[in-house]
Amino acid sequence: MEQNTVKQTDHFLEVVFSYTRWFFLLAACTVYFLNEWQGQLEGHLPFIYLVGFGLLYMGVTQYCLHKCNRESRFYKWMTKGGVIFDLVAYPWLIAVTGGFESPFVPIGYLIVLHAILYWRYMGGVLGAAAVTAGFTGVLAAQGFTFSGTAMMTFMMNTAILFLFAVLGGVIISRERKHYAERVVYEQMAKRDYLTGLYNHRTFQEHLLSFTSGHEPFYLVMGDIDHFKSINDTYGHLTGDRVLKKIGESLKDTNFDGHAYRYGGEEFALIVRTSSEEAVHKLIMQISRDVERRNRPFLPNFKVTLSYGCAPGLNVEPEVLIKQADDKLYKAKARGKNQVAGLGKEPAAYQLVRGKK
Ligand code: GH3
Ligand code: MG
Ligand code: MG
Repeated sequence: MEQNTVKQTDHFLEVVFSYTRWFFLLAACTVYFLNEWQGQLEGHLPFIYLVGFGLLYMGVTQYCLHKCNRESRFYKWMTKGGVIFDLVAYPWLIAVTGGFESPFVPIGYLIVLHAILYWRYMGGVLGAAAVTAGFTGVLAAQGFTFSGTAMMTFMMNTAILFLFAVLGGVIISRERKHYAERVVYEQMAKRDYLTGLYNHRTFQEHLLSFTSGHEPFYLVMGDIDHFKSINDTYGHLTGDRVLKKIGESLKDTNFDGHAYRYGGEEFALIVRTSSEEAVHKLIMQISRDVERRNRPFLPNFKVTLSYGCAPGLNVEPEVLIKQADDKLYKAKARGKNQVAGLGKEPAAYQLVRGKK
């Protein structure tokens, strides 16, 4: 989700760049018609080709920005390719709108900024070099005399462009680094270190939001059976490994909802459903998967959990936790490796068959 925010900002900037191109194309046409056009096509082909090239590229980009999947290769090529398009169109535009005196000279800064967004300093500096090379080439071809005040202006503009590239690169790199750090800190605050599942704090936040919503859901509390004896017999590192395996299992199981490490050897699930049967199926699936994942390094011990479930509509969070907890202890009291709280309960049956 956090990464999406960066992508959304980048997409927004691409949309701004694309509309800016349309604006400059319109402005270039206006400037050209006011200054250069004398009513016949002859001698104006470079400008006409530029407009044609621009319309083609900008039309395709516009379509891509609004219709293409932002993860697609085409989208990436199109957006990054915009920098190349700008680098080609820039000297062309300068050449047909007055060279050194062209009102479009400062567009070079926008091109450099665009390159910085994708390739940081390197993009900025290479972008500035390409803009300068294109601009200088046009001036040379048009017989510009690199001397006197014009030369001073040229040198000053070039120096400022490179300075802009370097400073822009620093600012963007710093912003992206801070952003990446923030994502890491947010993840640390939301997730449990050992299992990678959502932590207790996130559980409370989600539960509050679910209980104040209108969607039906189930709260499932799960507690590992005889976990203390795993620690006592095989050591705490093995105990940790079991917790991690359960975390992996809960993360890999596909269901509509979220899984949490409630604390210690207790887990919680919030499942978006009103069907007892669906919850039961899910718990069966998880139970078997947990046992299977732990079997290779605990061959003499069947890792099982007991579960307590409670439907979560129109109930306060604390009440709901208490209801699921009561059911969990009922499942424990009935002999563990069981689920309680799903309507009619068959006589103690085992979620994972066989003795431990
Ligand atoms: P029951 O079947 O009734 O649930 O018994 P139990 O042994 O699973 O439960 P008990 O409450 O007696 O023991 C829980 C143990 O879980 C005690 C505690 O040391 C251990 N534990 C809690 N958090 C961790 C952890 O992060 N790592 C390890 N290795 N052990 C933990
Ligand atoms: Mg416990
Ligand atoms: Mg336990």
